[in-house]
Amino acid sequence: MIFREDGKIRDIIRRLSACGELKRQDFFLLMGDISPEEEQTLFQAARACSAERFGRKIYLRGLIEISNICKNNCYYCGIRRGNKEAERYRMSREEILACCCNGYRLGFRTFVLQGGEDPLQDDPWVEDTVAAIRERYPGCAVTLSLGEKSRESYKRFRRAGADRYLLRHETADPRHYRQLHPPEMSLENRMRCLRDLKELGYQTGTGMMIGSPGQTLETLWEDLEFIRRLRPEMIGIGPYLVHHGTPFADQKNGSLTWTLRLLSVLRLLYPDVLLPATTALSTLHPEGRKLGILAGANVVMPNLGMPGQREKYELYDHKLCAGQEAAEGRKELENMMGQIGYTLSESRGDFQEHSPRCRKEE
Ligand code: SAH
Repeated sequence: MIFREDGKIRDIIRRLSACGELKRQDFFLLMGDISPEEEQTLFQAARACSAERFGRKIYLRGLIEISNICKNNCYYCGIRRGNKEAERYRMSREEILACCCNGYRLGFRTFVLQGGEDPLQDDPWVEDTVAAIRERYPGCAVTLSLGEKSRESYKRFRRAGADRYLLRHETADPRHYRQLHPPEMSLENRMRCLRDLKELGYQTGTGMMIGSPGQTLETLWEDLEFIRRLRPEMIGIGPYLVHHGTPFADQKNGSLTWTLRLLSVLRLLYPDVLLPATTALSTLHPEGRKLGILAGANVVMPNLGMPGQREKYELYDHKLCAGQEAAEGRKELENMMGQIGYTLSESRGDFQEHSPRCRKEE
């Protein structure tokens, strides 16, 4: 049993809330053996911070998983090239536009096109697809999440009208990165991509899975340091979940507690950041999405893909994509939000820098 002076955790939370200060040692304490009351204090501080900034409004994104064909072989991911059991699909532009049409009717004003690194959805194809969406829905934002591309490709997509890009760094620790990825992939390239995206003016999202094999509090601290340097507009975190067809089939799922505490820490460090309560969190726990919002998340991304196909975008086992996780489940989602005093926003939900912060940059 570690001796801890009374009020130490509360002091850490107070300093974090007041001016975004968090020392390495304090982070370790927050993620460790704290009492349920202390944990609630952390969640409360984070949701007060979101409520002050976003007024209990949750931004909506329609997620369209455009292909599960991938040239990469990441050890954790169910759609890795080496998973021979995966039933592969690739959406056509017309199918994607039909999903956007449906989404627009349902009130979605951001479309997120996510996929494996599918060589046949090449630059001209992506460019034309983005341009077609922007032309039909000029008031909507287009977010891409198509993995690592050249700076030139990112530039083309941006010119075609893409506003945002999601590319989780997965881990900022080179050794850990090697545990998660095959030798042909590199952390340097991932980081180069993120720098390019920022420089090209994308609202850029990064992030990591929580509880991936080999992750420790030290590697998570490295992730926070990386995020501090990159200054992303969005941060996607969710628990790592096992997929049976990967080399990590025998590993354990990530923890709910760590995911929720990290959401709170990120919210308090970056009051303006767009922070989703992810599908992985809902998959891990039936109340995951609600708990995520109550820990400071302010974005949800229901699935807007084609029923019958979206199940095949199986990054991990038992991925949810029906009910509240589906675009058609909007009413259900709204009811759930209502229960905890939140409403869905119908705006594009762009990143806006607001918060007067006394954060000191070291
Ligand atoms: N090809 C794109 C999209 C990848 S899928 C890219 O490279 O960015 C989106 C995210 O899902 C990944 O970045 C990863 O963090 C997450 N993911 C993949 N496998 C997962 C698993 N088994 N459990 C939880 N999250 C996973």
